[in-house]
Amino acid sequence: MSAEATNPATPGPVAGSAARWRARIDLRRLGRAALLGPTARDRLPSAISHVVDAHRAHYPGADLEPLRRAYVLAESSHRGQMRKSGEPYITHPLAVTLILAELGAETTTLTASLLHDTVEDTDVTLDQVGEEFGAEVRYLVDGVTKLEKVDYGAAAEPETFRKMLVATGSDVRVMSIKLADRLHNMRTLGVMRPEKQARIAKVTRDVLIPLAERLGVQALKTELEDLVFAILHPEEYEYTRELIVDNASRADDPLADIADEVRGVLREAGIQAEVLIRPRHFVSVHRVARKRGELRGADFGRLLVLVNEDADCYGVLGELHTCMTPVVSEFKDFIAVPKFNLYQSLHTAVARADGQVAEVLIRTYQMHKVAEAGVIALGNPYAPAPDDPTDGERVDPTRPGWLSRLLDWQEGAPDPDTFWSTLREDLAQDREITVFRPDGGTLGLPEGASCVDAAYAQYGEDAHACIGARVNGRLATLSTVLRDGDTVQLLMGQDPASEPSREWLEHAHTPAARIAIQRWLAAHPAHDDAQESEPERLLEIEEAPATAPRPVGEGAALRSTTDDIVVDRPGATVRLAGCCTPVPPDEVTGFAVRGGVVTVHRVECAAVERMKSAGRPEVGVRWGDTTECRVTLHAESFGRPHLLADLTEAMALEGAEIVSATVEPPTQQRVRHTYTVQLPDAAHLPALMRAMRNVPGVYDVSRAQTSGA
Ligand code: MN
Repeated sequence: MSAEATNPATPGPVAGSAARWRARIDLRRLGRAALLGPTARDRLPSAISHVVDAHRAHYPGADLEPLRRAYVLAESSHRGQMRKSGEPYITHPLAVTLILAELGAETTTLTASLLHDTVEDTDVTLDQVGEEFGAEVRYLVDGVTKLEKVDYGAAAEPETFRKMLVATGSDVRVMSIKLADRLHNMRTLGVMRPEKQARIAKVTRDVLIPLAERLGVQALKTELEDLVFAILHPEEYEYTRELIVDNASRADDPLADIADEVRGVLREAGIQAEVLIRPRHFVSVHRVARKRGELRGADFGRLLVLVNEDADCYGVLGELHTCMTPVVSEFKDFIAVPKFNLYQSLHTAVARADGQVAEVLIRTYQMHKVAEAGVIALGNPYAPAPDDPTDGERVDPTRPGWLSRLLDWQEGAPDPDTFWSTLREDLAQDREITVFRPDGGTLGLPEGASCVDAAYAQYGEDAHACIGARVNGRLATLSTVLRDGDTVQLLMGQDPASEPSREWLEHAHTPAARIAIQRWLAAHPAHDDAQESEPERLLEIEEAPATAPRPVGEGAALRSTTDDIVVDRPGATVRLAGCCTPVPPDEVTGFAVRGGVVTVHRVECAAVERMKSAGRPEVGVRWGDTTECRVTLHAESFGRPHLLADLTEAMALEGAEIVSATVEPPTQQRVRHTYTVQLPDAAHLPALMRAMRNVPGVYDVSRAQTSGA
């Protein structure tokens, strides 16, 4: 079916020019058809043949009709406009669209990309775009139009950028188009005045490149970096260029030699793999030169090993580490723990006998596509293809984590300047780390983030109620700085009127946390002074040494307030026995021990029998009015990841304050935990024990009770 046959005449104000265009294109087609003969495969305008070819390579079955219509409208409406270089304006949207098509953008993005400057620069209206191409294309074009204004209104930049984020934040494809648009403008920047070049290059450096990094679009990021480098640091750029040219003219190429060696190793191991040499881009060479001083041949590029299956990545790694000399400190596994921007690869390095070290990246073809094209390779977020390239990736491609955060805290920022400065700070963070939540979810945080940051990232303003954290199963202060791959469990208080501590500001690195805390403090000025003198509000929990099981026997579990026990012996110090940890309303009895201390046991405790048979007299004890209690519990469980975190969370949810915890090393997959907890109400103990038993993996929970043997 010809494209024309499915397309009714374009309605609206441009119908006349579209008709003229069609006449012209038909003439051109006739000529082309004459050349190609009856096999000419379609009637698409030849100007978009590159776009179409690139698009078909990624989406063989794509409907090309929207592209054809978008091109016709864009060409006719931009007609007569010229770029500064003297070329027809249409060359710009075509080039932008080609960049995106080559990276694997889906049809809707390409359609919007062809039209991206029509609303801003021609008579075409947004409504018209909506009528002819649908709401999605309209939305994308509108977003890019708004972004366009950011570049040229420097004075209003902070506020505009903020608005831009709000406007475009719900669909990351707007950013994709903007990045490709900026790349083409940067490629053709040479025709501008030097001051203008520098200004545009700086915005590219400060905002667009970090965005490209966040979106995982490595291919755009590296080219933008080199273009900016050339404009803002022409001398260093020239010097780097000479280094690269000199190296290329050298007779020996260590990378090629090592690549051959790697190919041989993998062939012998029977692993199918493609081994490529990836030259570093200029900025990368410049960085390495600054870091290492003199560069050696192997520093000018990296080896890229491409395989078919995930498992092959580890196979390749194993062979390289066995048959060559690995530099183990260079090893990083971004497959098990993908980076925040979806990037996955194994990184390692191998050394040659002469000391030259080659960095090696190992990934599948699919990982490679995502590494190069990032979110652009994720396709249409609203219509996941059956061969979903994300392969079950549960990240919402329209709202990567960092973008959601950005959008959340921009609403809380007191003014545009604060927003702008915190945004730039946030973007300036080189790296993000990924930390795991006990429920298996993840949080992406900037490097250097603390538990306070994790709390606000996870709970928003509810994080005011955070009382503590466990990092990798161990209790940690909220100021603890998190590392990539840590598991963080945040302990949340139950008090709805909880207040953040002023001190948290010192440990809050993310705008989300800082803005939320500052906002709370600003809204509660009276609390400022009180906070200073108040004791630290964080939950004080003593962590029992891992090697020390709670001592058993009399007088083990101490408590300093004993108002809730009434003893028939004036002046006596009372202790609740650790062996049976009595709580109200247990039936209890007491025994006098050394130092005028009376220990209190449950009447059925084996120790009671022992004491009595040893001839010790019982001391009358009974519970007072209080209902608060402290109790020691054993939990028996099967070992599994996150069990400790899940268990302590279940306990926290029941209002139990953990006073001490001991986890014995697993034996035969079984783990015994001992917790001493403080409960606001003894009557709640059965519910607590039930909740603990309900944690998957836990098969028994019991009150501490020694055999007395
Ligand atoms: Mn443009």
